[in-house]
Amino acid sequence: MVYDKNNIFARILRGDIPCNKIYEDEFALAFHDIAPKRKVHALVVPKGDYVSFDDFTRDAPANLQAGFYKAVQKVAAQLGVSADGYRLIANTGGDGGQEVPHFHVHILGGEIVGPLVT
Ligand code: AMP
Repeated sequence: MVYDKNNIFARILRGDIPCNKIYEDEFALAFHDIAPKRKVHALVVPKGDYVSFDDFTRDAPANLQAGFYKAVQKVAAQLGVSADGYRLIANTGGDGGQEVPHFHVHILGGEIVGPLVT
């Protein structure tokens, strides 16, 4: 799939539209999900034009991949969910239920997240 530079997360990364920012570094931006599914529901997006986990993991440079996943851990720690636990979700493609075509990881926690799939 060709990357759409006007997807909503690309626009947030460019600063065209606001977000409720949690964390930012050279590799990633994290913000609160606009429609939280649990007490804590954050999104972490890499700073690069990648549609999904699939092309990010296949094509992104190693330093971006490492920096991105380290950022996910830092965001979880900053949100205070590391001790009690949390769930990472990376919906991928149509069957995976991905709505926004810019790779992102959901961090869900702050309470028992519940069954993996309902
Ligand atoms: P996914 O189905 O994995 O692509 O998830 C996309 C997520 O982005 C959903 O949980 C939405 O609630 C969230 N979302 C969409 N637009 C925004 C926005 N402007 N700010 C924050 N979260 C958003």
